[in-house]
Amino acid sequence: MIVVLGLAAMIWWGGRLMQVTRPVRISLLTVLFSAVVILQLTLPDGAPLREATGGSASLWFILAGAGGLVAVYTMGLQHLRARAERAEGAQAASGAEAPPFSEVELNRYARHIVLREVGGLGQKRLKDASVLVIGAGGLGAPALQYLAAAGVGTVGVIDDDVVENANLQRQVIHRDRDIGTAKVFSAQAAMEAQNPFITVRPYNRRLSDDIAADLFSDFDLILDGSDNFATRYLANRVAVAQEKPLISGALSQWEGQISVFDPARGGPCYQCIFPEAPAPGLAPSCAEAGVIGPLPGVLGAMMAMEAVKQISGAGEVLRAQMLIYDGLYGETRRITLSARADCPICGQSRIVPASTGEN
Ligand SMILES: [Zn+2]
Repeated sequence: MIVVLGLAAMIWWGGRLMQVTRPVRISLLTVLFSAVVILQLTLPDGAPLREATGGSASLWFILAGAGGLVAVYTMGLQHLRARAERAEGAQAASGAEAPPFSEVELNRYARHIVLREVGGLGQKRLKDASVLVIGAGGLGAPALQYLAAAGVGTVGVIDDDVVENANLQRQVIHRDRDIGTAKVFSAQAAMEAQNPFITVRPYNRRLSDDIAADLFSDFDLILDGSDNFATRYLANRVAVAQEKPLISGALSQWEGQISVFDPARGGPCYQCIFPEAPAPGLAPSCAEAGVIGPLPGVLGAMMAMEAVKQISGAGEVLRAQMLIYDGLYGETRRITLSARADCPICGQSRIVPASTGEN
C-alpha cells in the first residue's frame, strides 16, 4: 500500500516539479488507481501483489471517496474566490460604485460626519450640491469661505468688482496683495487653496436679467450677498420662478438680518417683505454709512450655516423667519414673516411662474 501511495505522490508532486500539466497527472493517477482496483478485484485473497497493494478494494474506494470530497471542496473554494475577484474588478471598473470620498476627504470632514444631524449622508449631499453666491464682498466672503471648507462640491460666485483697499477691513477672503484683482478670482484662489476637493466657478460680471435664469438653472441654492436692491429683486424673481431657495443677508452699520426665502416650500419671498426699494438716500450703502468689520463675518457665516442645513437636511432653516442681529448690543431677535397674497412675484395674483423670470 505504501508503495502505491508513494507512486501516487511521485506522479502528483514529482510531475508538478517536472511541469507535467494537471490533467495529465490526474489521468496518470486514474490509471494507477484503476490498476490497483483491478488487482484487488482479480487476484485471489492472500496473493503477494494484492497484499502489497492494500489487500482490499474497499480500502481504495474509501480513499478515492475522501480524495474526491477534498477535490470538490477545493474547486468550490476556487470558484467562490474567482467570483469575488470578478465582482471586485467590475466594481472598480464602474465608477458608480466607487466610494464617494477619499481617505483624506473622510478625515477632513470627520467633524461633520460624527454629527448625528449631518453624518455621511449629509456630507455626501454637500458634495453633490451646487451653490451660487451673489457678491464676493462683505457677506459673500465669509459665506464662500465656509461653503468651501464645509465641502460644498460646486460653488459659483458672481461679482463684477475688483478688490479695493477699503474692502479689506471686513472682506477677509481677499488679501492685501489682491488689491486690483477681480474679487471672484481672488475668492476662487483662496477657496481652492483652502479646499482642493471642491470646484469653484467664478463669473466676473454683474448679475443681469439676460443671464440670471441660465445661471441660476445650474445651481441648487442661491445665496444673495449683493449690495443693491436691483440685484436683490432680480435674484428673488428668478429664484422664485425656478423654485430655488434664496438665502438672503443684509447689513447696515452694526446690524444685520438674514432669512431664507423659499415660497415653493412655504413662506414669503423677498418681495413680499420688501415690496419696494427704499427711496435713494434712505438706505445708505456701507461706503456712506459705515459697517463694523466683524458684522459681515457673523451674517455671512450664518448664511453658510443656513445653506449647509438646507442641503444636508439638518435642523430647520430660517424659512418664513427673519433673524436680526444687533452687534452693538449683542442682541438677536427673530420675527415671523408671512407671504402676501398680492405679491407680484410669488402671490396668487401672478399669472404664470415662468413669466416672472422674463420681466
Ligand atoms: Zn412674494
